[in-house]
Amino acid sequence: MSYKPDVKHLAGQTEAALEQWARVRGATSGGARALARALLAEFAQRGAGERPAQSLLALARAEFSVELPRADAVADADGTVRFAVQLDDGKMVETVLIHQRENEARAKERWTVCLSSQVGCARGCVFCETGRMGLLRNLQAHEIVAQYAIAARHLGQRLRNVVFMGMGEPLDNLEQVVKAIEVLREPAGFAVPERRITVSTVGIVPKMDELYARTKAQIAVSLHAIDEQARRALLPVAKKWPLEMLRRAIERAPRPVLLQWTLIENVNDSERDADALVHFARGLQVRVNLIPLNPGPAKDRRAPPLQKCRAFQKRLADHGVRALLRLPHGQEIGGACGQLAARTASRSALVRIAPGCS
Ligand code: SF4
Repeated sequence: MSYKPDVKHLAGQTEAALEQWARVRGATSGGARALARALLAEFAQRGAGERPAQSLLALARAEFSVELPRADAVADADGTVRFAVQLDDGKMVETVLIHQRENEARAKERWTVCLSSQVGCARGCVFCETGRMGLLRNLQAHEIVAQYAIAARHLGQRLRNVVFMGMGEPLDNLEQVVKAIEVLREPAGFAVPERRITVSTVGIVPKMDELYARTKAQIAVSLHAIDEQARRALLPVAKKWPLEMLRRAIERAPRPVLLQWTLIENVNDSERDADALVHFARGLQVRVNLIPLNPGPAKDRRAPPLQKCRAFQKRLADHGVRALLRLPHGQEIGGACGQLAARTASRSALVRIAPGCS
């Protein structure tokens, strides 16, 4: 399922890997470090502080590709931008640049980039467009980092917040996701603070411990229901890793965990559901993200009215569970994960309203 391009891409290189590359070609340790840092800074479009040997730099430029994939951008009125990113083999993924006012009073802006980790997804969650595609292939680390670079160049600034909530289940492609995080956090390059990276999972329990051990990234878990049958009906993965196992994995987390709860009318939006979530959260280091359902493939399911969403949030808060109600960004132009690329791939129906980044 993995795609192996025949070029080395700079977006997939850590400082240590570039240093090693230079050492093999005879560079001193100082020369190798200078080359690695200069290449990372150049790719991240930051001012170059290091002056590597020109001959080595020329060699590196000949060997490492720096080209970004073609990306068609669609902007929404609230500032959200969705990129349909075309990979080298023609497959499409989506990347979303999410605009939020961090503080309404001060009008402070906050940008988050949402990255895809797979083309399609094998997990088949019933409300997800990407799940309907099945898994086409895993992304390589450089294809993940390239999405970040596309969004950052579009905005003309470094992005400090990264979420792996686009197409795919990140823990099903953990090696490449961890490698991408290692590249994104490089101080000489994009310098994304690792604690500001969030990896979302539908609950691949054995891989959660590996993620805790290998990165300092935050973890978000898609919960959506406490009743086992109801959860299995939404998330087929729950048949393999039931709630009890998932709860124990959350308990083992070294950092607070974000519980994702997509609010679906008459499915998981009642007072009883809120109380069950309170019970589940008791004793755990968690906070909750409430996300009213985006329109998706399950046509018979929809989001509750806003008033009911707020009542759900209040019931959690009244019982000491911190919950944020996330109103959907970019709903007018795509919806939840995977929708943009799924539409583009199937119907070529997007109106291109902004130039591609490549
Ligand atoms: S919600 Fe996430 S894990 Fe589930 S099918 Fe969609 S992309 Fe895969």
